[in-house]
Amino acid sequence: AAGVPAEKPADKASALVVGVIGAGTMGAGIAQIAAAAGHTVRVHDARDGAAAEAVAKLGKTFGALVAKGKMPADAAADAVARLMPAASLAELADCGLVVEAIVERLDVKNALFRELEAIVAPDAILATNTSSISVTAIARGLAHPERVAGLHFFNPVPLMKLVEVVSGLATAPDVADRLHALAGAWGKTAVRARSTPGFIVNRIARPFYAEALLLLQEQRATPDAIDAALRSAGFRMGPCELMDLIGHDVNFAVTSSVFEAFHADRRFVPSIVQRELVDGGMLGRKTGQGFYRYG
Ligand code: NAD
Repeated sequence: AAGVPAEKPADKASALVVGVIGAGTMGAGIAQIAAAAGHTVRVHDARDGAAAEAVAKLGKTFGALVAKGKMPADAAADAVARLMPAASLAELADCGLVVEAIVERLDVKNALFRELEAIVAPDAILATNTSSISVTAIARGLAHPERVAGLHFFNPVPLMKLVEVVSGLATAPDVADRLHALAGAWGKTAVRARSTPGFIVNRIARPFYAEALLLLQEQRATPDAIDAALRSAGFRMGPCELMDLIGHDVNFAVTSSVFEAFHADRRFVPSIVQRELVDGGMLGRKTGQGFYRYG
């Protein structure tokens, strides 16, 4: 009506600028949800052109969400406009939060965080998406190790609700609190853990896979029977189909890493049946053959 100011459209834009380093599987997903939540997101990758490719691909992802009626067109356009590839790390200078999702190597992550500290503000939070490296070790040697924490997403990031917020020995409680609140604002369910091998999920899931692999090794049940049993028992997926989805190479590497981190604790011993699949290149869905055939 005349004289009544038109209501401002809901402004989802947030003042917190988010940096994402590593534009691979996880980094792209993290950039997507951060942009959808209203942040300006700067995406950087060491490989030339990778960040720009990931941002272009996310443009298509948002387009598909609109086409499926899962997101209003204007909200998707805003999110796409907030996604920026960063050719150099220096372009992340205004980020209040940086989430690292690069290669799973301590030396490479350490070097990246040291370089990053010289670029961002002293109170910017540095989060790592590592699934197996100690958060304490990643923060080691930094001028401000208290602002480093784990922010462990699960694949595929836009669909998986869970985020583990992981504190290392030096992590400030306030940093974990802020990440916990932020993950909630991004529509995730955040849980807290102290840095420990496998954190919560990747540790508790080990025996789920291991016992299925032992049943197969003993030829006591088929993958079909095991999966049907667990699905009917209320699990979303059975262990065999889930290992095929994750990839036997990835699943075997996670088990091996937890096993080593616990000083060869027999509870986490990697499976020789799975090792055979990895050696044969039968990695699951991605190669068309694992416990099941695909395609
Ligand atoms: P990915 O191989 O798909 O992507 C990694 C990206 O990082 C690549 O684009 C690579 O070019 C880039 N990169 C490598 N070194 C870099 C550096 N020094 N600086 C900038 N960019 C660099 O890997 P991913 O599966 O997305 O995993 C990334 C991280 O997330 C790892 O720490 C991994 O353990 C963790 N993680 C993975 C999963 C998963 O299911 N894939 C789940 C949870 C956590």
